[in-house]
Amino acid sequence: MEKSALITGITGQDGAYLSKFLIDKGYKVYGLLARRSTPTMWRLAYLGVDRKVEMIEGDLSDVTSIIRAIHIAQPVEFYNLGAQSFVGTSWNQPQLTALSTGFGALNCLEAIRLTNPKIKFYQASTSEMFGGIPAYPLQSETTPFYPRSPYGVSKLFAHWMTINYYESFSIFGCCGILFNHESPLRGIEFVTRKVTDAVARIKLGVRDKLYLGNIDAKRDWGFAGDYVEAMWLMLQEDEPDVYVIATGQTTTVRDMCQIAFEHVGLNYRDYVEIDPSFYRPAEVDVLLGDPTKAQIKLGWKNKTSLKQLIEMMIEADLKRVKAEVKVQNM
Ligand code: NDP
Ligand code: GDP
Repeated sequence: MEKSALITGITGQDGAYLSKFLIDKGYKVYGLLARRSTPTMWRLAYLGVDRKVEMIEGDLSDVTSIIRAIHIAQPVEFYNLGAQSFVGTSWNQPQLTALSTGFGALNCLEAIRLTNPKIKFYQASTSEMFGGIPAYPLQSETTPFYPRSPYGVSKLFAHWMTINYYESFSIFGCCGILFNHESPLRGIEFVTRKVTDAVARIKLGVRDKLYLGNIDAKRDWGFAGDYVEAMWLMLQEDEPDVYVIATGQTTTVRDMCQIAFEHVGLNYRDYVEIDPSFYRPAEVDVLLGDPTKAQIKLGWKNKTSLKQLIEMMIEADLKRVKAEVKVQNM
């Protein structure tokens, strides 16, 4: 019989890649669709799966809507990817972030407990939970947490709730501590996509400068398409567990800019300027993950280098900006 999966955050970057991945594996995919005033299906359409998923209206802050979604979807696997996921915004909307990113996970766990405790649950944990820990330059499943933003704090609540619901009620809950992962479907507010979009605009002559904040911050960047496989692999194990998913390489924002501008034959120094308004109230200076456990237990491997990833994103942005310019000139 066809297996069903329910995904919250299905309209986001990972939701789109995971939908495609599960559909290709033969799953029937349902998504919890939050009501918005503008269309949000573009990422699913980009991957050609917008008509292959079934949407159920609901919101992470409304536990009744999650229960209703479970009744309709009858999932064997439940992936909680929904969140206010942008660190910068979390200082401006800390309560909203706590409600969707933190409490939302608890609502999912409660909905599972009340309907069918056998559903396997995936929680989208994050390297932002490690935050500011200079004494631990390489972060693994045993590294202590020290979140540095309302987003990180909210995710840590969701992380421990997932572990607690396993220890308390035997709900099969896995936490994937995923380090930053990007793609052509990444939100424009995140630094990689902000850079690749600007590189495309500068190359095509529709922009002069790129304004950034702290370009000395270091991140461990991978490709979202590679990382969603790890989510699925975790739920195929006999026991739930916590896994770090990362590339094991870290790069400054500055060096990432250099890779991006070089791809189109430009020097980033001629275009990047610092705008202190992009500095954060508290910064996470370095993220570098150790994916050894996932490699050994799940057989998961990162496949895409940062250079390949950035080039893929720039090529997609060049196409988008060219199409935009064409429409403007019509
Ligand atoms: P996105 O920001 O692209 O997607 C977030 C999704 O959550 C969107 O579908 C959004 O819906 C949905 N959402 C937001 N609020 C609610 C709500 N109240 N009720 C229902 N749905 C809601 O995130 P990503 O795809 O990049 O990330 C997926 C998950 O993984 C997130 O939880 C993120 O925090 C986490 N994560 C991401 C990392 C990364 O580098 N990408 C790293 C580690 C963890 P809408 O489209 O309508 O706004
Ligand atoms: P995060 O790791 O989830 O916060 O992902 P982001 O892509 O938003 O930010 C990664 C790093 O880039 C952080 O250390 C930011 O401070 C840094 N950064 C520098 N300039 C910018 C900018 O203009 N926008 C964003 N989003 N981040 C920036």
